[in-house]
Amino acid sequence: MNTPSLLILPGDGIGQEVMVEVQRIIAWYGDKRDLTFEVSEDLVGGAAYDKHGTPLHDDTMAKAQEVDAVLLGAVGGPKYDDLDFSVKPERGLLRLRKEMDLFSNLRPAQCFDALADFSSLKKELVSGLDIMIVRELTSGSYFGEPRGIFIEDGKRVGINTQRYTEDEIDRVARSAFELARKRDNRLCSMEKANVMESGILWRDVVTEVHAADYADVELSHMYADAGAMQLVRAPKQFDVILTDNLFGDILSDCAAMLTGSLGMLPSASLGAPMENGRPKAMYEPVHGSAPDIMGQGKANPCACILSFAMALRYSFDQGEEATRLETAVEAVLAKGIRTGDLMMADGGTPVSTSQMGDAILAELEASL
Ligand code: NAD
Repeated sequence: MNTPSLLILPGDGIGQEVMVEVQRIIAWYGDKRDLTFEVSEDLVGGAAYDKHGTPLHDDTMAKAQEVDAVLLGAVGGPKYDDLDFSVKPERGLLRLRKEMDLFSNLRPAQCFDALADFSSLKKELVSGLDIMIVRELTSGSYFGEPRGIFIEDGKRVGINTQRYTEDEIDRVARSAFELARKRDNRLCSMEKANVMESGILWRDVVTEVHAADYADVELSHMYADAGAMQLVRAPKQFDVILTDNLFGDILSDCAAMLTGSLGMLPSASLGAPMENGRPKAMYEPVHGSAPDIMGQGKANPCACILSFAMALRYSFDQGEEATRLETAVEAVLAKGIRTGDLMMADGGTPVSTSQMGDAILAELEASL
């Protein structure tokens, strides 16, 4: 097989700083694990606007369509707040998601033992937590028509439409069932079938896909509001949660925060398989460009590094190497090595962004 290709889009603010550390990890895999990537780098967000007057140049979009995976840092910043909506940095990100048709958004909520005290829940409820939320990303009430603010009888009415076709539900359900098979083989699908027709269809299609092709996976259904309660009552009961765009937006933020800091949260957005069998894919940390700490060496690179670990697992079938990287991050945290966002009252060793990268590389080296 050809050398796998990666397009790196550091973006703005700390996106650029954390990506430097990821590049060092990628180089390590080339040197020490014979896992070489054809890496290209380009601009997105405010950085692309500064150079091209658009947050995503057409050539960059074309490159993103060709590579095996895109790795993105973060976009945005106060410098761009007054730009017209059509050229705001976020439009670059949205264009990538839309044109690559990345319909399946994977948001792990994993609690590293060393950080269990960061959670707003009791330590015993979150210690060892490992949930994967699969959120449908390209349809549902954020895209359905009609939408808008209209006048009816002289009064304003705000309208959004929750709309799902069975094909849209079918494809995201399949991606979630596949994922469950690689984990603990359990999937809980969440909707509001008690009050929404789109929820009834969601439940029917998930049930049909399960019966047809994934009967080996343990399937359960839950109303999304009950799911939210269960997430904060007993989160460890879940393995994979499958849900729509709107509920997924809320439930994934809720689940992620069970685990502590924004600087630790990776994500993946996957689309349909390409000719080589790999899914269209973009990996990115959940956090933004953090203008309050940019340029100060304070950014935690772990979320972006863990996003690369997801790329190893989901785009490049390198599950063992992904685990090696995740284990290295966990070992560093267990030693009390912390960027500022992870410092706790009981101390720890404060380090800069690049020192965190050094520590993770040292653990990788020690794993050989
Ligand atoms: P943010 O995620 O950038 O920052 C929120 C807080 O968390 C800040 O105090 C920041 O210092 C801290 N933080 C975030 N990531 C961190 C890390 N890796 N290490 C240490 N601390 C970290 O969110 P915000 O402040 O609401 O937004 C700032 C800019 O980022 C805005 O322009 C926003 O539109 C953009 N944004 C982009 C994305 C994206 O690119 N996917 C996501 C969210 C926000």
